[in-house]
Amino acid sequence: MKVIVLGCGFGGVEVANELSKRSELRKRLKDADITMIDRKTRLEYQAAHPEILSGKVIPEEISGDLNKFAAKIGAEFINDTVVNIDFKAKKVKTKNGGKEIAYDFLVISIGAEQTFFGIPSAEELSYSVNTLKGAVETKNALDKIDFSAKEIHIAVIGAGLTGVEVVGELIDYLRDKKASAKISIVEMMPQVLPTFSTENVSNYVSKFLLDRGTEILTETAVQEVREREITFKNGKKLPYDIIIWTAGIKPNSLLEKLEVPKVKGWLKVDPYLRVEGMKDVFAVGDTASFEREGVRSGQNAEEAERQGEVAAENIIRTIKAEKLRRYRPKNTIQNPRAFISLGSNKAVMYFRGMVVNVFAYRLKKFVERRYMKRFE
Ligand SMILES: Cc1cc2nc3c(=O)[nH]c(=O)nc-3n(C[C@H](O)[C@H](O)[C@H](O)COP(=O)(O)OP(=O)(O)OC[C@H]3O[C@@H](n4cnc5c(N)ncnc54)[C@H](O)[C@@H]3O)c2cc1C
Repeated sequence: MKVIVLGCGFGGVEVANELSKRSELRKRLKDADITMIDRKTRLEYQAAHPEILSGKVIPEEISGDLNKFAAKIGAEFINDTVVNIDFKAKKVKTKNGGKEIAYDFLVISIGAEQTFFGIPSAEELSYSVNTLKGAVETKNALDKIDFSAKEIHIAVIGAGLTGVEVVGELIDYLRDKKASAKISIVEMMPQVLPTFSTENVSNYVSKFLLDRGTEILTETAVQEVREREITFKNGKKLPYDIIIWTAGIKPNSLLEKLEVPKVKGWLKVDPYLRVEGMKDVFAVGDTASFEREGVRSGQNAEEAERQGEVAAENIIRTIKAEKLRRYRPKNTIQNPRAFISLGSNKAVMYFRGMVVNVFAYRLKKFVERRYMKRFE
C-alpha cells in the first residue's frame, strides 16, 4: 500500500507525520509506505521570510531538511518536480528522468504560487519574499544599496499580512544600518490588511506604520511597472529604487493540467478532503478549496496542518473501511486569525475580531521554534 505525499510544505509534512505516527497502519499493512515528493529539499517556514530582511533569522533556522525528516519518520523522500498525474493509472510523473511513480493513495499539497496579475514587467522588476531564495535575494539587493548617496525609495506592493510584515522588517533593517529611506506600501483595497473582517486591526497596524514614517497608499492599483517608476490606474506615478511584491497568490500551475473539479483553479474537495468525485486522492493546504454552508477555509499554515491531519486519518479510515472524519476549519475567510509581526520585536494577534498585542511576538516565535523542532 503506497501513499504519495506530493508537496512537502505545511500540509504535506503533516500528512506524512500523522501517517507515520499511526502505527496501526503499519501493523495492519506491513508493506505500507509513505513517499514524500518535493521540488525543494527543504520545508520553508514562510511566515518568517520577512525577518530574513532584517537579519533576525537566517535561512537554516527557518527551513527544515526534508530528507532528514523523511528518514526520521520512516518515509522515503524524492527531490523532484511532478509534471503530471494520471489518475486512471494512479501514477505521478516526475520531471527528472521522467519517472512514473505508482500510488494507492495520493495527497496533493503543492501550495500556491505568487501572482503578478499579468501587470507588465511587474515580475521581472520586483523582488519577493514568497520563497526563501527570493527573501535572500531581496536582502542581498538591499545590502547593495548605497543609502547615503540620495534618498532611497522602497515600494512594497500589497498591504496584506506579508506586506505589512515586510515594512516592519525594512524599518528595523534601516534602523540597524543607521540609514534612512522612504517606504511606501501600496494597496488596491480601501484599507491595510483588507482580508481581516474588522477595521480595528487595520487601524492599529496602519497607525503603527504611519508613526514610523511609512507612506500608505490605499485604493491605489498598479497598472504598470517600469525601471524606477510605477504607474497606478489613477494616473499617478511613484518613483522607486527597489520594489518588493507581496500581493496575491494563484493556483500552482500543475493544477492547470489536471482534469478534476476546481473552484477558480483550486482543487475542489469534499467534506473529507478528497478531491471531489475521487476516493483515493486527497488535497490539503493552499491548493485545496473547501467550502461548506457558507464557510470557506483560509489559505494559511494553521489550516494546512489541520487538513493534513484529517487527510491522514481519512486515508487510514478508508483502508480500514471506517466512516470518514469531516474536516471543520477554524481559521476561515469569514473569521480569520493570525499573528502579525510588525518589526521592533512587536506583533499583534488577531483572534475573533480582537487585537491582542501583549506577548504576541514572543508567542509567534514560540510557535515557530516549536514547529521547526521536528526537523532537528
Ligand atoms: C511570505 C509569506 C508569509 C506567510 N505568513 C503566514 C503567516 O504568518 N501565517 C500563516 O498562517 N500563513 C502564512 N503564510 C501562508 C502559509 O505559508 C501557507 O498557507 C502554507 O505554507 C500552506 O501550506 P501548503 O502545504 O499548502 O503549501 P506550501 O507550504 O507552500 O508547500 C507546498 C510545497 O509543494 C512543493 N511543490 C509545489 N509544486 C510542486 C511540484 N510540481 N512538484 C513537487 N513539489 C512541488 C513546494 O516546493 C512546497 O514545498 C505565508 C505565506 C507567505 C508566502
